Amino acid sequence: MSVIREICSLGLLSAPQGDAIWGSPRWDYVITPGRRRWDSNLKLDLHTHCREATACPTPSLDIVRDIVAAAKAKGLDGIAITEHYTGAYGHEVKEIVDRCLNGEILVIPGQEIDRVFIGVDKGLLHVVELYLPGDVTFRFIAHPGHPSVRDLDSHIDGSIHGIEVRNPLHDDEMDEERIRQLAEKHNLILLANSDAHALSDIGVFYNEIEIEELCARARGG
Ligand SMILES: [Zn+2]
Ligand SMILES: [Zn+2]
Repeated sequence: MSVIREICSLGLLSAPQGDAIWGSPRWDYVITPGRRRWDSNLKLDLHTHCREATACPTPSLDIVRDIVAAAKAKGLDGIAITEHYTGAYGHEVKEIVDRCLNGEILVIPGQEIDRVFIGVDKGLLHVVELYLPGDVTFRFIAHPGHPSVRDLDSHIDGSIHGIEVRNPLHDDEMDEERIRQLAEKHNLILLANSDAHALSDIGVFYNEIEIEELCARARGG
């Protein structure tokens, strides 16, 4: 991404240390002295809408600094960026954080998509996809109960690996007991995320989890 390299080369920032090797099986994908390894429990908010929060279609260095600051203010190790219908924004933010800000936080690119049903059960689910190391995709159901889906159970298949049990935007519509039953039946990991549409909301809820656990579930292991 040449624009980003130009941003880094302006001399306003220290040169990136190490190479971003997202997609490699190595967890310490950016090698930075003193940096925390990613194969331990991390505080991660896995559902944020930073593009909507900043009202700018492309992330500038200043915007990315604000995103990083918001995540660090809540003590997070990282966030997933899960815009509606586009994974590009999350990849762009990740590139800037890794190359220009020495990977200060872990950014997981992702997106939120609608999974639409037709016929008797017509309706839709919001599903969040996370693009993880090793080219694996972890999927979870966002805020089950909104929109309301009849017989949610029958729409959970092997492509789903997690389900939100807390989401501050939709907690009122989420039946925690039912969600816990579905998670147990389908072996889904329970997640608590902010669904932030403002930077100050990032990290309102977060998970303490290993990236390896998400990858293993996505691989079906
Ligand atoms: Zn949603
Ligand atoms: Zn969302």
